[in-house]
Amino acid sequence: MNEMQLKFLSRSENEVFARNAVAAFALPLEPSLSELSDVKTAVSEAVTNCIVHGYAGGEGWITVLCRTDGDRLELEISDEGKGIEDVERALQPFYTSLAGEERSGMGFTIMQTFMTEFSVVSEVGKGTRVRMSKRFGAGAPQRAANAQ
Ligand code: ATP
Ligand code: MG
Repeated sequence: MNEMQLKFLSRSENEVFARNAVAAFALPLEPSLSELSDVKTAVSEAVTNCIVHGYAGGEGWITVLCRTDGDRLELEISDEGKGIEDVERALQPFYTSLAGEERSGMGFTIMQTFMTEFSVVSEVGKGTRVRMSKRFGAGAPQRAANAQ
């Protein structure tokens, strides 16, 4: 078991920081390149949501909690922003509250597809927390740790 926590401001440049920090933390689990790429994409989607929806361009804190447990990586990504009124609707593929602003409404769907487990808890005016996990070791031969 290992654990780490990141807390950073909702600036767009921190999305790259967060996904690479999580990837670096996950390396000892020896994920395949494709597993690592899935995790980075999921982190990227969750953090982007905090920035563009949670804080809607304003500034606030984003927290990423990361835990490893055997061959599993667990993530909790949260903001203290505006929250989601209807989580069930937000989870629908192609649903976006920012239509016409180059959002496709696929972020949550991508997180669900790329990770093993996924859930969202949100409260209007309090914020949003996404929990995800991924189990590594489906058998892909090329290990990211060896490919650097
Ligand atoms: P895309 O991710 O494809 O750019 P999107 O962000 O609109 O588009 P999702 O990531 O699936 O699509 O999110 C769906 C909707 O859920 C968002 O349009 C927004 O209304 C709401 N949402 C998601 N994350 C948050 C958040 N952290 N805070 C507030 N609302 C959120
Ligand atoms: Mg999104």
